[in-house]
Amino acid sequence: MLEAGIAWLETASWLEMTVALAAENFLLLLLAITLGEWVARRYAAARVAPPAPPLSRFEVGLAVFNTLLNTATTLLGLALWRAGIIRFRPDTGLFAWLDVFALVAIMDLAMYLLHRLAHHPWLFPWLHRLHHAYDRPRPLTLFVLHPFENISFGLLWLTVISVYPASWLGMSVYLALNLFFGTVGHLGVEPLPAGWPNWPGLKWLAGSTFHAWHHQRPETNFGFYTLTWDRLFGTLEANYWRWFGRLPPAEVPTAPNRVEPNAP
Ligand SMILES: [Zn+2]
Ligand SMILES: [Zn+2]
Repeated sequence: MLEAGIAWLETASWLEMTVALAAENFLLLLLAITLGEWVARRYAAARVAPPAPPLSRFEVGLAVFNTLLNTATTLLGLALWRAGIIRFRPDTGLFAWLDVFALVAIMDLAMYLLHRLAHHPWLFPWLHRLHHAYDRPRPLTLFVLHPFENISFGLLWLTVISVYPASWLGMSVYLALNLFFGTVGHLGVEPLPAGWPNWPGLKWLAGSTFHAWHHQRPETNFGFYTLTWDRLFGTLEANYWRWFGRLPPAEVPTAPNRVEPNAP
């Protein structure tokens, strides 16, 4: 199966690959929005951001354009693979699964740093302000970002896999997790129970409340998959664990947390 896929990627024409990868990327877009909207409706009573306004044509157009850009990034990755710059391993054993942890850890730090950089006043207006214009996220908001920002995330990913020859399995699972975390972060509702901050280990995962609050309070909560770097660099929202699963409290200061949170 994997061998047949690799053989196809080695011999397919660019037109064939463009059509196949565009279909794949649009299917992933539909999957993320459909499942995300289903969860958002099911947990409509547990809002962590105010309801989003009616959908605009601009948002839909931008999401479609970014899906085409994602296709272009995938094609660039394949071109680099055919040129021998990107390599991947075919193994599916323990080390292939360890790649998932390695890629999540590497990208968690790299994307945290890129996100902090995107909030620098010199870069923010033309790179990241567009995504933050949508302060009431819905699943589609994951795909509503400035094309330059999308390209910078894509190039970061291609750089990482150029340096780190991960397994095909590890890369595929990582990319699925990336879509999962991105969709969860833009639900606008919290499907997890209120007691989530008491769960050892799992409470360190970034989720819906975490990223919804970043849209509300852009000076905090920069992480993508875990809270690790926000805790280390003092950018975790001060009330995150105490107010988990709710709208951010309006009356408290928005300063990032530099002390131990009150929650367990
Ligand atoms: Zn966002
Ligand atoms: Zn941001």
